[in-house]
Amino acid sequence: SKNSGNVNITMYNRSMTDTIENSVALEQKIRIALEENNLYFVLQPQYDTKTRKIRGFEALVRMKDEYGNIINPASFIPVAEKTGLITSIDNWVIRNSMLFFKRVLDITNENLILSVNISVLHLLNKGFLDEIQQMLNETKFPPSNLEIEITESVFISSMAKAIETLNELKKLGVCIALDDFGTGYSSLSYLSKLPIDLLKIDKSFIDELLVSESGRNYVEAIISIGHIMNFSVISEGVENQKQLDILTNLGSDFMQGYLWGKPMLPKDALKLLGVSDEI
Ligand code: C2E
Ligand code: CA
Ligand code: CA
Ligand code: CA
Repeated sequence: SKNSGNVNITMYNRSMTDTIENSVALEQKIRIALEENNLYFVLQPQYDTKTRKIRGFEALVRMKDEYGNIINPASFIPVAEKTGLITSIDNWVIRNSMLFFKRVLDITNENLILSVNISVLHLLNKGFLDEIQQMLNETKFPPSNLEIEITESVFISSMAKAIETLNELKKLGVCIALDDFGTGYSSLSYLSKLPIDLLKIDKSFIDELLVSESGRNYVEAIISIGHIMNFSVISEGVENQKQLDILTNLGSDFMQGYLWGKPMLPKDALKLLGVSDEI
C-alpha cells in the first residue's frame, strides 16, 4: 500500500543519514589519528610450506580513536578511500613498517619479506612511484625484500595505467602480490599481462576447503593456474591443521593465518624471530 511505501522511504532516509554521519565522524577520527600519530601497524607472519620457516610478514594498519578504542581497517579504509586520506595512511604504514623492518633485516641477516597493502586509488596517483622510490632511499630498504599487495579492482578502474605502474615498480626491484585473488573480476586473459610474483588466495576460498568438494577443487584450480603462470601462491586465512594438510598436498607455496599467528605488535614479531626487543 501507499502507506507502507512511505514508511520504507522514511526508514531508508534515516539509515542513509546515519551512514553519512558515521563516515563524517570516521573521517574526522582518521584526520586526528594521522596528525597525532594514533596509527600503528601490526605484522602477521607468512610461512614457507616446505621449510616451515618464516617467509616474512604482512603489515596491517590499526587506528586508535581519541578514547583509545582500536578501530579496524575494514571500517575506516573505505572512508579513507572516499576522502583521499588513504594515500597518507598507506604512506604512513609503508614508511614506518620499512623503518622497523630494515632493522630486522640488518639484525637477523635473513632474507625476509615485508608485505604492504596499497589501495587502488593510491597506486593510480601520479606521485606514487616517486614516493615509493623516495621512501626506499630514505630507509635504505632493499627493494627486493619489499612486496606490494594490490587487489584486482585496480584493473577494473584503469588497466593500462595500473600495468604501467606495476612494471615501473618491478624495475625498482619490488615484488608484487595480487591480493584477494578470486573475489573480484578475475579474468584469465589479464593475468598473463600482469608483472606479478605472488597470488594470494582469498580466505573465503580457504574457508570452503573443508566444506565441499567443489571448494577444494576451486583452490586446486587456482594453485594450478598460479603455477602455470609462474607465480608463487600463498593461502590466506589458514586456521586449522586440516586446511594446512590439504593446502600442503595441493602445493600452496606459502601460508598465512591464525594457525601460525594473528597480526602482532612489532615487538612480538621480534620475539617470534628470536630477536631481543632492545632494538
Ligand atoms: P587483507 O589485506 O586481505 O588482510 C587479511 C585480513 O585477514 C586481515 O584483516 C587479517 O587480520 C585477517 N586474517 C588473517 N589471517 C586470518 C585468519 O586465519 N582468520 C581470520 N578470520 N582472519 C584472518 P585486517 O587486519 O582487519 O585487514 C582488513 C583489510 O584492510 C585488509 O585485508 C586490507 O584490505 C585492508 N588493509 C589493512 N591494512 C591496510 C593498509 O595499510 N593499507 C590499505 N590500503 N589497506 C589495508
Ligand atoms: Ca593484504
Ligand atoms: Ca587478502
Ligand atoms: Ca581483503
